[in-house]
Amino acid sequence: MQPIAWPSTRPLKIYATDPTKGYEEALKITIAVENEELKAGPIGERLEVVDYDGHAKTFYDAVDLDDPAILMQGGLDPSEADPRFHQQMVYAVASRTLSNFDRALGRRIDLARGSRRTRLRLLPHAFRGRNAFYDSKLHAVLFGYFNADADAGTNIPAQKIYTCLSHDIIAHEMTHAIVDRLRRYFLEPTNADVLAFHEGFSDIVALFQHFSFPNLVDREIQRRRGDLQQPTVLIELAQQFGFATGSGKSLRSALGDSSATLATTTEVHDRGAILVAAVFDGFFQTYRTRIRDLVRIATGGSGELPPGDLQPDLARLVASEASRTAQRQLDMCIRAFDYLPPVDITFGDYLRALVTADFELNPDDPWGQRSALIEGFRSRGIYPEGVTSLAEESLRWPTVTNLPPLTDSLQDLLPQLLRIEADRFSQRTREAEVTRTGRPGLSAPEEDADETVPPQPGEDISKRLAWALSSYARDNALQLLLDPGLKIAVSGFNAVFRVASSGRLLIELVAQFVQTDRSSEVDALLGIPIEKRGGTTIIVGVDGTVRYAIAKPLPNPALPQPANASAISRLERQKSFISQFDARDPLFPYMSPDQLRARMSARMNLRALHGGS
Ligand SMILES: [Zn+2]
Repeated sequence: MQPIAWPSTRPLKIYATDPTKGYEEALKITIAVENEELKAGPIGERLEVVDYDGHAKTFYDAVDLDDPAILMQGGLDPSEADPRFHQQMVYAVASRTLSNFDRALGRRIDLARGSRRTRLRLLPHAFRGRNAFYDSKLHAVLFGYFNADADAGTNIPAQKIYTCLSHDIIAHEMTHAIVDRLRRYFLEPTNADVLAFHEGFSDIVALFQHFSFPNLVDREIQRRRGDLQQPTVLIELAQQFGFATGSGKSLRSALGDSSATLATTTEVHDRGAILVAAVFDGFFQTYRTRIRDLVRIATGGSGELPPGDLQPDLARLVASEASRTAQRQLDMCIRAFDYLPPVDITFGDYLRALVTADFELNPDDPWGQRSALIEGFRSRGIYPEGVTSLAEESLRWPTVTNLPPLTDSLQDLLPQLLRIEADRFSQRTREAEVTRTGRPGLSAPEEDADETVPPQPGEDISKRLAWALSSYARDNALQLLLDPGLKIAVSGFNAVFRVASSGRLLIELVAQFVQTDRSSEVDALLGIPIEKRGGTTIIVGVDGTVRYAIAKPLPNPALPQPANASAISRLERQKSFISQFDARDPLFPYMSPDQLRARMSARMNLRALHGGS
């Protein structure tokens, strides 16, 4: 007889909304997460829940989600009191977030850090405190818990609040971890947008995930009569966390503060909120366009809804349209990642990446989603540098014309890379996980690969590819806007598989090159070298032609004049950004050379940034 196949997803229960009225009242839902074999923890291929309570100094019993008693009920029921449910919830939401990235990016994201840390660790009760954060050194997300304030809105005073029971906080922190895996230099505050992007983007992912919970969307669409721009749990983040820390409102919202401008807003969450608002302005616009016909049909052509409850069929159609639009917008926001420069991101770069990535996949823009998004960014005052207009053609990254195709050695390796990544991406069933022997040799190096020694023929394909890519970059350094005099590190490369809305399959190779200049200039006042970083992302078609080279060059007189000028002004901007912080820091005059070198990362790290909110 045929064995019965494992399903590709596993149902697990979570709290969909923050339990503002107590955990009993929170909306409980079941979500489908990737089905993989799990050890008690849960411990899967990429995620590992470690339930050590750093305050109580104890390990809690780890849940075994493959226990038949738990499998039969589709996961444990939500419970505030049972740490095993907390473990399940953290795992479920983290896994769902990861799957959203896998799907949108068209590859299976590798969370491993080198060969030692193959999984991202999630600690649901890591410490006592009003905080939760991703720590890149520990390769872990740490969730705190605390007692609610006396004046804590709808929380029972002094009730224990677990940040690990908030979908929004888990999704937000998980996004930080994934973004750090995709772009490790986005935790370096080199301009006002870099960390604000990390924060804003993490909120964008958490917010859009709300729309994948059908019960929640149905309820809110009915309550708000289809108007998504009214404050609802759909577009507000971490309600309970905001109330519990006495701020009297939800932590952040997709609506943003319409008076906030980039010129005056420097705090990273507030600045990130401008990015969130720009993306959601675009989303609301597309959503309104998409439901206009439905409403017109339902109202006999008038488009004016009668007072009272929405007609149930209409509410259902509107809700599914909202979910579909949100999912598409989330995919678009994530997909842009491959089209971002490897260092020193600005919101303007992100808009250009969004527009280019979506254009490559869906040139026709049948939903008008790109133009709505551009309008959203415009209305929030986000303009990319060096772009003459906000017309779509000028926002798209220019296509490359002066680069030779990839070398033969790279072309030979490409099919192997495609095969390995295609296997990783498609073999998601449990059976495949069990029978597969070991991980394919594609794990990203812990540090940028230093490709100065050619690999031996027997070495794994990732080493050989990194070598071939860096030789290509060395041979074409100036055309790639890299400095031929500096080491070129390969900071990541992947084959990606994306399906356009037309059904067309798009296969590409994306790779990032990074350069660090530590020696050419010494800060005259501080006496320490000024560290400068530049880099280029390339997008290569399956035929070996380089389609895009998205660069943040380092100054070099050999570069074309506009590129060199923009490199010089980029580093000037970085200096003045750092000196603003120096001017406000009373300890600055007393720092040792080591402290000076590390001062920006000490001032701005995710733990400190999340502490206040
Ligand atoms: Zn954050």
